[in-house]
Amino acid sequence: MSQRLSGKVALVTGASRGIGRAVALAFAREGAALVGVHYGANADAAQATVREIEALGARAVAIPADLRQGKAAAESLHRQFRAAAVEALGDPRFDILVNNAGIAPARALAETDEATFDEIVTVNLKAPFFLIQAVADDLRDDGRIVNVSTGFARIAAPSHPVYAASKGALETLTLALAPTFAARGITVNAVRPGVIETDMNAGWLADPQARAGAEALSAFSRLGHPDDVAEVVAFLASPAARWTTAQSLDATGGSKL
Ligand code: NAD
Repeated sequence: MSQRLSGKVALVTGASRGIGRAVALAFAREGAALVGVHYGANADAAQATVREIEALGARAVAIPADLRQGKAAAESLHRQFRAAAVEALGDPRFDILVNNAGIAPARALAETDEATFDEIVTVNLKAPFFLIQAVADDLRDDGRIVNVSTGFARIAAPSHPVYAASKGALETLTLALAPTFAARGITVNAVRPGVIETDMNAGWLADPQARAGAEALSAFSRLGHPDDVAEVVAFLASPAARWTTAQSLDATGGSKL
């Protein structure tokens, strides 16, 4: 396989499982030198991802930070990754940031209390914003920022209005920041997964009727796999995507076309 990310240093949030883990492993397969595996609470899962990355020949470090703490968590995450990069490679700078961590509780309008609203917006929007702010000076020229959004930014989601709005705002942030980073050749893009078979969806996908409905959403009549999204992220992170910025790339398997 070609090694499109040879020698690159990347930080992936929420990489202990699901899409983030698949992205971190895709980066390792593409030749990344060091991958930061951020996680919220499950240290064992993060260490398992670290070992999988190491087995692919890359270095990896697990970094905890509870993104419900917003700016403080983003700054702590940056400090820890910076120190790890200096220790591993003697250089705090890195090339790729993937804001993947997110939460998606199903709460319709009438069921959404203020605490839930604040938590969704903090994890999905506020923390990525302050993480980008914190790492900006350490990102190398020609670097990459990829924000993981959702197909619900395009498809109406009355079951998840705050989640959809938090990701819509993340996409608008992607657009707003692209000119600032373009001055250094850094691209800023978003990816919109559809329904992907991860722990996030394990509960409701256990119901055969719900599962069939989710499969029918895609033009390909199946659920997405984390790798289906990870490979789109890896493309955007690669030199091949140097001329693409401020875009939200659909990775919903053609849902609701
Ligand atoms: P997941 O629940 O399997 O993993 C989410 C990750 O985010 C975990 O690693 C978790 O540690 C991290 N995270 C959650 N809350 C956190 C917190 N407070 N602090 C720190 N980390 C926290 O989910 P996934 O399916 O892999 O989703 C990854 C991203 O893709 C999310 O942003 C999600 O909104 C988006 N997405 C997923 C789907 C899907 O169908 N799975 C569809 C569209 C978009």
